[in-house]
Amino acid sequence: MDTTKGNSAVIPTTNPFDDDHLREECAVFGVYGHDDAAAHVALGLHALQHRGQEAAGIVAFDGRQFHAHRGLGLVSDIFADSNVIDRLQGSAAVGHTRYSTTGETLLRNVQPLFAEFEFGGMAIAHNGNLTNARTLRQDLIRHGAIFQSTTDTEIFNHLVANGRGDMLERVNQALKTVEGAFSLIQLTKDGLIGVRDPLGVRPLQLGKLDGAWMLASESCAFDIIGAEFVRDILPGELVVINDDGVHSHRISLTAKPRFCIFEYIYFARPDSVLEGKSVYAARKEIGAELARESHIEADLVIPVPDSGVPAALGYAQESGIPFELGIIRNHYVGRTFIEPTDEIRHLGVKLKHNANAGLIAGKRVILVDDSIVRGTTSKKIVEMVRNAGAAEVHMRISSPPTAYSCFYGVDTPEREKLLAANLEVEAIREQIGVDSLAYISLDGLYKAVGEESRNSAAPQYCDACFSGDYPIALKDQMEGDEPPQLSLLAELG
Ligand code: SF4
Repeated sequence: MDTTKGNSAVIPTTNPFDDDHLREECAVFGVYGHDDAAAHVALGLHALQHRGQEAAGIVAFDGRQFHAHRGLGLVSDIFADSNVIDRLQGSAAVGHTRYSTTGETLLRNVQPLFAEFEFGGMAIAHNGNLTNARTLRQDLIRHGAIFQSTTDTEIFNHLVANGRGDMLERVNQALKTVEGAFSLIQLTKDGLIGVRDPLGVRPLQLGKLDGAWMLASESCAFDIIGAEFVRDILPGELVVINDDGVHSHRISLTAKPRFCIFEYIYFARPDSVLEGKSVYAARKEIGAELARESHIEADLVIPVPDSGVPAALGYAQESGIPFELGIIRNHYVGRTFIEPTDEIRHLGVKLKHNANAGLIAGKRVILVDDSIVRGTTSKKIVEMVRNAGAAEVHMRISSPPTAYSCFYGVDTPEREKLLAANLEVEAIREQIGVDSLAYISLDGLYKAVGEESRNSAAPQYCDACFSGDYPIALKDQMEGDEPPQLSLLAELG
């Protein structure tokens, strides 16, 4: 039974008060073996809300039937009515929260997607992006597939439908056909399946609460429900969770994983532990490394809230310059009903941030932020700090220049709109109006996350948005890329 509710109106995908950051597109969360599976999924999604604020959904299985609810907006609004959770009965459930990269967020694109197959129903939740989605979609359509959404996740369903063998064999065949970054959770009548792509670009973790198993994008989702973190799902690993426990399978043997290094800089919540590293500790160490690389005499280190806080703390501790909250953030500025015109965007920075003028006046300040994307917000913040009377304004960025778009599940503007794709550091400094500007180096970033340096022969992370070194071929982006002539049915056989 699909109890889908929510209105189908189109809402803006860009928060006009914060359009100058890269955004993680999605979070996934699944529970197997708990009487309140859907309620726990809702709580887990709430903890993962930072990974996507446009829409969310949960599909639960009660042993006989699947129940679904999806809506547009925040998790706390979509699942506010306790009747909704009550209807999502069953001891297994999967949930998803999303940030859309397309110009609109339609209810039909909201995950988990659900479809009926020969082996029964399957709900699927996906974090990441398929890099051969366009070519696969064209081929599937040519062979008669009818798509109901514009998400690349639906391609996976069609591949499973076209496959041969039992459910797991079909899933395995589909996984061999898709390329890109994907952390997937699937719910079937036989259990929960979790998969991470061969390079492990996006995170996926295993947790446990009493006798129940959980899969989540980040460990902070286990904390909220009192579950214990068990381990990261390995790159190229598929786990099947059912009444017999957790069974691990390899979908591919990878030479070297390439986890997204930006998770440590900005995307993940600082209280999460990813790939064995505390995100908070990594961010502080990035700030400390930044201070070592680009020290300057100043009176105050000020974070651009909230994401710049841990790096600014690390910078202040390493440099010995006092850390102060010189910019105060209004946490109650959320989505808006106002259209995101340039005029409103300009107003937006002031609505969200205010300079602590009494603290800043007459001081030489170092602002620490995690990234500069288009540069529009940075410029406004610098103006605000200067207007509050700062004697000097220096900017330190806890990522290398973001000069390339991400195609692995993070919303980035086209390359030409990225400031660092067009301008050198000195020109960016001039444009945002600071006295000095420095980014952490790529080697410094690697050092801060525990590597000796970026081994350019075999980089240890995905860092493509800084280096342009894309670890997974961008099939859909390749110029003159012809749609494949292969017959998917033949290939899958
Ligand atoms: Fe992460 Fe950047 Fe790689 Fe995208 S391109 S996965 S944001 S490191």
